[in-house]
Amino acid sequence: MSTFKAPKGTYDLIPPFSAQYLAVREAISAPLRKAGYGYVETPGFEDVELFARGVGESTDIVTKEMFTLTTKGGANLALRPEGTASVLRAALEANLHKAGGLPVKLWYSGSYYRYERPQKGRYRHFSQVGAEAIGAEDPALDAELIILADQAYRSLGLRNFRILLNSLGDKECRPVYREALQGFLRGLDLDEETLRRAEINPLRVLDDKRPDVQKQLVDAPLLRDHLCEACKAYHEEVRSLITAAGVAFEDDLKLVRGLDYYTRTTFEFVHDGLGSQSAVGGGGRYDGLSEMIGGPALPSVGWALGVDRTVLALEAEGVELDIPPVTEVYAVPLGDEAKRVLFGIVTQLRTADIAADFSYGGKGMKAAMKGANRSGARLALIAGDRDLADGVVQLKDMESGEQTAVALEGLVETVRAKLA
Ligand code: AMP
Repeated sequence: MSTFKAPKGTYDLIPPFSAQYLAVREAISAPLRKAGYGYVETPGFEDVELFARGVGESTDIVTKEMFTLTTKGGANLALRPEGTASVLRAALEANLHKAGGLPVKLWYSGSYYRYERPQKGRYRHFSQVGAEAIGAEDPALDAELIILADQAYRSLGLRNFRILLNSLGDKECRPVYREALQGFLRGLDLDEETLRRAEINPLRVLDDKRPDVQKQLVDAPLLRDHLCEACKAYHEEVRSLITAAGVAFEDDLKLVRGLDYYTRTTFEFVHDGLGSQSAVGGGGRYDGLSEMIGGPALPSVGWALGVDRTVLALEAEGVELDIPPVTEVYAVPLGDEAKRVLFGIVTQLRTADIAADFSYGGKGMKAAMKGANRSGARLALIAGDRDLADGVVQLKDMESGEQTAVALEGLVETVRAKLA
């Protein structure tokens, strides 16, 4: 115990648990990498205005949850609360949209920060893996992303998740709906803050989780009934492509999500074993975002899946990821000369791409073999002065317990053959 603790709303990833995290990140990104998405990494902080304009002035993320700071030079920065605005900013800055064909397909993985009230599944520092397909308006692209997320979750062994799907319309039909909804909301018995929200961003009120608000929203006009022909056709195509891929989803006519930039396709992945923080991932189309941050018109679609909640979902389903031990060979020297020789051999093994570890600290046989067991290695190499004098080391099969003397000469190849 030190004087310090991890800050409120954060936690550390520590072995062996941390291996689950790496495996989840790997599993979520694998389908993306095989589908033509290239890796992008952006800074952990950005100009605060990027998020204010991109994510939306009226969202909780911007009004309440950003970690902001002013640098000594006077710049106003925010720790990134989400990935999309940064990735689009980076793509525009690098002119990726002019470099070759569209869409520009990118994936990312990293830490995000929101000043939230911490609870299980909701942290101030969390991890996401995300994907963005920038610069193309094509229902097949929306479908691709939903299918890839579904594949990612399934490859991990998750089954009890559901995909909620909706369309938020576009700049033709959404304003008409917005007005209709606003008219409806003005007639309700709502608190002042919610009424204010109804004026700035009425769709967000649909997302209000309070039961007394939800009760009043039962008869709210639905966007579905206001979609223009183009949006309707687009949404139908997305639905039929996902269906043809065998991916089940539910139409959720009230799904809006907490970010302002979404248009048309909007979706969320929810897991039923997670209680109130049930969203494991979400995304959608954001055709207007590029222009909102000063770029050209670039219709785009993307998602972000939460790594923390995906790990919780795995726990909730009782799924144990099959994470094989990394160490294959564990070296146990008995004496100083053996230490020098085996240390050299461990380096040779690693150079030959065989994962090897070593008993440090001059331990005796018993304690050293405990270390060998804990490492999960399949083979142990044990040597004392007498072995070295004979030009051999003892090679122990950790599973069967069988031990044989093998020549030092050509040891790396002998070990490789044993492991094969
Ligand atoms: P959002 O950008 O809010 O749609 O978040 C996308 C995903 O990131 C969510 O579905 C969660 O899995 C995850 N996420 C968002 N905020 C948090 C948080 N405070 N703590 C943990 N995970 C989060």
